[in-house]
Amino acid sequence: MLPTTPAAARVPCCPHQTAAANSLSQQSRQQQAGAMAALPIPARELFINGRWVAPVRGKYLDVVCPATEAVIGRIPAGTREDVEAAVAAAVAAHKSGVWAKTTGAQRAVVLRAIAQKVRDNKTALANYETQDMGKPIDEAEWDMDDVAGCLDYYADLAEKLDARQGSAIDVGMEEFSVTVRREPLGVVGLITPWNYPLLMATWKVAPALAAGNCCVLKPSELASVTCLELAGLAGEAGLPAGVLNVVTGLGADAGAPLSSHPALAKVAFTGSTATGQRVAQAAIANLRPATMELGGKSCLVIFDDADLDKAVEWVMFGAFWTNGQICSSTSRILIQERVADAFYAKLKQRAQSINIGDPLQPGCRMGPIVSAAQYERVRGYVQIGLDEGATLLTGGRRPPSCPRGHFLEPTVFINVAPHMRLWKEEIFGPVLSVSTFSSEQQALQLANDSEYGLGGAVISADEERCRRVAEGLECGIVWVNCSQPCFCQAPWGGVKSSGFGRELGEWGLENFLSVKQVTTYVSDKPWDWYSPQSKL
Ligand code: NAD
Repeated sequence: MLPTTPAAARVPCCPHQTAAANSLSQQSRQQQAGAMAALPIPARELFINGRWVAPVRGKYLDVVCPATEAVIGRIPAGTREDVEAAVAAAVAAHKSGVWAKTTGAQRAVVLRAIAQKVRDNKTALANYETQDMGKPIDEAEWDMDDVAGCLDYYADLAEKLDARQGSAIDVGMEEFSVTVRREPLGVVGLITPWNYPLLMATWKVAPALAAGNCCVLKPSELASVTCLELAGLAGEAGLPAGVLNVVTGLGADAGAPLSSHPALAKVAFTGSTATGQRVAQAAIANLRPATMELGGKSCLVIFDDADLDKAVEWVMFGAFWTNGQICSSTSRILIQERVADAFYAKLKQRAQSINIGDPLQPGCRMGPIVSAAQYERVRGYVQIGLDEGATLLTGGRRPPSCPRGHFLEPTVFINVAPHMRLWKEEIFGPVLSVSTFSSEQQALQLANDSEYGLGGAVISADEERCRRVAEGLECGIVWVNCSQPCFCQAPWGGVKSSGFGRELGEWGLENFLSVKQVTTYVSDKPWDWYSPQSKL
């Protein structure tokens, strides 16, 4: 589903509402076009104060294409010194008021101009994204539409912010007028992962800019190419120098000094739970707020009254989209015992039919795992599953058609017991764990028996049961009769070890605003607390 009008573009963030319609359009595109040519990766430096700046220590990191294992470019390996320069640029921009003192309407103009630049450059951006981290080109193009849609959505909220400024609060005393101002926090540090490199960055950059903040973005060292491009496009679109700075580099070298920087007003992090703990500790040591979008092991519960063909489609989408590398992936399936065997047969057949291969080929539905290290880690979990005694239904090996690259067949384990690592730990790859249940109560108990609480899903023909299960799941996002659709208007985030705070929607904007009360004494009478006749 590719938005074609501005109104449509505002709707989806990860809009997989019409999978059938989408796959039709992809099939016809596939017939029209062969594999896309790999575009050369632009040679960029760090983006600081509106300019491309070489890293102080002069070091770079290779960009390795996970599909070919070839080095296709390089990104700067920023360090503490570069973070200092970027934060200093952002502080200067903030203090100048060049962005913080603009109206929401003025910021909306620039945000929409950036969105348009993203649309104008969609083909190239998607091509870079696919080469950089391996997601199928159809998904990367979709991401770029979502990036533009997210920027437009927060442009709308920036405009609405103007009308909310100075809103009155009734405090019950006519001598006082109390109003509320919503102000930018200041300079914010944004640290993001590699699975949706540009989209996850935009989920933070768009609301942060809409609120009037200045930003330093540290993308993942495994996929920074499109984030650097965004910075350049934002500059071209009229974003003042210093308002958005991008420092690429390793987590320990660039992420750590950013998260602990005392000049930041807030840290917004998306990544693994282990790194999130370090980043949150660094922020709180400076008494700065942080929002944490962390890992997950979300559970999809399928009852025996479900249409199994439809259910399998959502199971596949929840497990294998983005090559299975999704924080909210429903990577645990609970199937009701009575229909388990029929479900396994359908799931096996569908998983084996996934179009896996060159991610630049339109119609590809699974590309490689992002890096050699992650590939080994995910394959390690296949071995763990076998060692633990789970049953490998399908997959678990390199596809014979892909002799090079970090490819793994869509992998499904059944008979996975709740104590197994396969069931408990986030794998972050195309490995699905399936178990069975007998009653609704048991399903909820098994689904909630997890350290994580990002997403959860239920599929059943019984609406009342879906409502009960949605209420009972301990997580921040619940899908009913689907898995994964995500909209930039709706709150996103988890509970337990999946983090805290919410991105997207109005919640995403509030995260980047400071609320100031302005209390005015409006009575002509003296306050008169200290006079002997005081009636107060
Ligand atoms: P990661 O934690 O390894 O890295 C995330 C970011 O943190 C990167 O930019 C990295 O360079 C940086 N970093 C690493 N060490 C750091 C340190 N000591 N201090 C500061 N920054 C540091 O995660 P990843 O492998 O890039 O992404 C995968 C993880 O992200 C998965 O666990 C996934 O569930 C999670 N994720 C969560 C969401 C969500 O919305 N909840 C979305 C996408 C991904």
